[in-house]
Amino acid sequence: MALSEVHSQEHAISALTAALGKKQVHHAWLFHGPEGVGKELAATGFAQALVCLKQPWVGCGSCADCTRVARRNHPDVTWVMPEAEQVERGLSGRSDFTNTPSRDIRIEQVRALQERLSFRALEAPHKVVLFVTAHAMNQPAQNALLKTLEEPPRDTILVLISSQPDKLLPTIRSRCAKAAFGPLPASFIEMKLKAAAKKGLDDALAHQIAVMSAGSLSRALALDPKSFAQRKETIEAFEKLTPEDASAWLSLAEVMGEDRGSAEAAIDVLQIWFRDVALAQVGAEALVNSDLSQLATQAAARVSPARLQRRAGLLEEAKNAITQRNGSVRLQLERMFVEMFTA
Ligand SMILES: [Zn+2]
Repeated sequence: MALSEVHSQEHAISALTAALGKKQVHHAWLFHGPEGVGKELAATGFAQALVCLKQPWVGCGSCADCTRVARRNHPDVTWVMPEAEQVERGLSGRSDFTNTPSRDIRIEQVRALQERLSFRALEAPHKVVLFVTAHAMNQPAQNALLKTLEEPPRDTILVLISSQPDKLLPTIRSRCAKAAFGPLPASFIEMKLKAAAKKGLDDALAHQIAVMSAGSLSRALALDPKSFAQRKETIEAFEKLTPEDASAWLSLAEVMGEDRGSAEAAIDVLQIWFRDVALAQVGAEALVNSDLSQLATQAAARVSPARLQRRAGLLEEAKNAITQRNGSVRLQLERMFVEMFTA
């Protein structure tokens, strides 16, 4: 996967190819943008360009070196990510760690990396380090990394990949050249969904999921079309809730929170729904849930724009807590409804 094959990210890719073209690549980069839009793919292509001997500064994408980068076993390309992520991606087994695999990138990992970087590259003209989920670095790890950014080892290029760059120290961010990745066009996601399609994904559903994925291919691929079939039910159940009937919120939390996947899908559905209601409040007609436009108009009249915005914020908070696995899914949803309907 050479850099030139990364789709719909012209802005970021042109920044990278310009730097490579000048053969003057800054020693630290921050690839930032939403989850699932190609940052890691681009980082792989960038690393290939830096170690490929066949097409130096470009990366052919197919030689032995490029292949080893893509397979993550090139000796001069180091991937850094939390232990828990290594387990989730099947790169390590749970038994490889004596304690519960950490969700943070810890200072020990940064120190081991620094040790490794004190040696020369083994084969390639550069050593490349790719921090996957860079914002998972905890404070001590970030402070330790700062030293490497301030006094970079020779021929070393660090790439910090992050969908939440505001969790990185300002002093880290300011030392990085930036490559900004944006949401992918819905048409591109739709095409990819169909290419990867399992049975039962008709055009209308593919389109709906593409629009709802808000430009994230990984999110679109992770969305279960079956949970999406629940879209209408989820929205209708939400709109029936009233401040007086607490038992109804709690039972909706129970339905939505059956498991993490269904909770995330339901939250996605409600996020798009709130956006539709906000659009209906200003009289716009191009709703994503176009089949529910009448309900959107009713909801728009019932809730003030300020309250709607507050609810959207609570939804976002619950979503973050659930994806970061902070506590029980159902409790997070219950708390969200309580705050939506009592405050
Ligand atoms: Zn190559």
